[in-house]
Amino acid sequence: MIDFRSDTVTRPTRAMREAMANAEVGDDVYGDDPTVNRLQSYAAERLGFEAALFTASGTQANLLAIMAHCGRGDEYLCGQNAHNYRYEGGGAAVLGSVQPQPIENEPDGSISLDKARAAIKPADAHFAITRLLSLENTIGGRVLSLDYQQQARQFCDNHGLLLHLDGARVFNAAVETGCDITDITRYYDSVSVCLSKGLGAPVGSLLLGSGAFIERARRLRKMVGGGMRQAGVLAAAGQIALEQGPLRLQDDHANAQYLARGLASIPELEVDPDSPQTNMVHARCRRDKTGELSDYLAREGILIKAANPIRFVTHLDINQRDIDTLLKAIKTFYQHR
Ligand SMILES: *Cc1c(COP(=O)(O)O)cnc(C)c1O
Repeated sequence: MIDFRSDTVTRPTRAMREAMANAEVGDDVYGDDPTVNRLQSYAAERLGFEAALFTASGTQANLLAIMAHCGRGDEYLCGQNAHNYRYEGGGAAVLGSVQPQPIENEPDGSISLDKARAAIKPADAHFAITRLLSLENTIGGRVLSLDYQQQARQFCDNHGLLLHLDGARVFNAAVETGCDITDITRYYDSVSVCLSKGLGAPVGSLLLGSGAFIERARRLRKMVGGGMRQAGVLAAAGQIALEQGPLRLQDDHANAQYLARGLASIPELEVDPDSPQTNMVHARCRRDKTGELSDYLAREGILIKAANPIRFVTHLDINQRDIDTLLKAIKTFYQHR
């Protein structure tokens, strides 16, 4: 199967499977797993933080971040399209008693700092206490500029807010921006990173922040059932993902460009003029046949999500030949209709 649905679908490489098989492990709830400890200290150093925590998922890392920054009855500002508002089951509210205050995202994925300022609650018994601003980079594949992120840091300092980054794909952002990862992460009090997307690990994310913040997050992780014992088996793959994954994201972005050009040559499709964004291409079917198209492609061994516009995602397991196969299959589909 050639799978364009997401960059979460990558399978562990041979090197990862070998590292997993040979991983030295211990009980991570006791802090005894050397492979987890090595990944956490490597990640902290690499992303420029005091400490890091290996988590089951990006959703868990974001939840722990919000709960470690905010108390019961506090609130966090986030984008209306933010993953940690829309796609995480309302976890911060359900499990943390932390209220989200969503703000319409600007077309470039940022949050207007004027709108954020207007959303900060006054010190008054009627209101939740606004504690945190949460940004996302990349968001829908879009990269936030360094300038904007610096302004967001200044904004938070001026208003006594903490600043979290949902950096599930922050390495894609660094590659696209052409900067070191720490040129982005330096603006934030905490960052979550997915190892299991473009970086290619089978499972796992990281949360980064100060030592005291990560200690709070570690307690919360245990509470939500995320203490994973001999997790070194997973961290071993995560270590390879973090060391080597970023080096090949440029290929995913180049493949997305190649795919966008190919899709643009199909008259029945309308590629989003802003596409591609990092490793994502959005294309609308002019006469909505996405259901039929995705069924047809599935029979040809190609998976897409049946939504309009369609989001195509490039990753470790997609090469140019796979893209040619997709383009040919889409053209054949439309010939018969
Ligand atoms: C995928 C994703 C997450 C959550 O990661 P999971 O590991 O799937 O829980 C969080 N934020 C963003 C922006 C994501 O794309």
